[in-house]
Amino acid sequence: TKPAALDIETLAWDKQDGLLPAVVQDADTLRVLMVGYMSREALAKTLDSGQVTFFSRSKGRLWTKGESSGHVLALVRLETDCDRDTLLVQARPHGPTCHLGSVSCFPDAPGDTLGALQALIRTRHAERPAGSYTTKLFDAGIKRIAQKVGEEGLETALAAVAEEDAPLLGEAADLLYHLIVLLQARGLSLDDVRAVLDTRRG
Ligand code: AMP
Ligand code: ZN
Ligand code: ZN
Ligand code: ZN
Repeated sequence: TKPAALDIETLAWDKQDGLLPAVVQDADTLRVLMVGYMSREALAKTLDSGQVTFFSRSKGRLWTKGESSGHVLALVRLETDCDRDTLLVQARPHGPTCHLGSVSCFPDAPGDTLGALQALIRTRHAERPAGSYTTKLFDAGIKRIAQKVGEEGLETALAAVAEEDAPLLGEAADLLYHLIVLLQARGLSLDDVRAVLDTRRG
């Protein structure tokens, strides 16, 4: 997906020595991954190559994240804030973003668990690794998946009228997992569901 064109010249370059802070967020989990600085050239290269590129103040040059580790950040979307002096970059990381080996440079940054699960299910759908339960579901087809959603829905309902929390939470987790698999099998995603919910918010 190519992000919408951004007019580079209208950004507030003069505010801070020609550099804008860029917050990088995982496009699927929404977790904040790292913060870097972009110059005009870094931003142009990011938009052009689709790989997130910063101006490294310590290296004194353009730095494409992952250039030596291979842990690149594939650009999904890029936008600027209200006064055009900060960038928000959504990307898909190829490996851990932090050079210390963590997914994020902010190890405890909160993320969207369902978004992460959906990203994993999408990968299973595309790659169909042998021995995976998710692969088995996709191979069995939409009717089998729909049946599983029905079963897990019923199990969730039954658990809801019992006392214990743990079985209810377990069944709710089963239901959400199978629901995401069902949506994926139909070429849909949680984002499509969120869009419907947004229209209902009134
Ligand atoms: P990489 O861009 O992943 O190939 O890493 C090259 C070098 O950039 C590393 O050895 C670190 O010095 C630095 N580096 C990599 N990732 C980060 C990061 N997330 N934050 C700050 N510096 C980094
Ligand atoms: Zn701002
Ligand atoms: Zn780090
Ligand atoms: Zn169940």
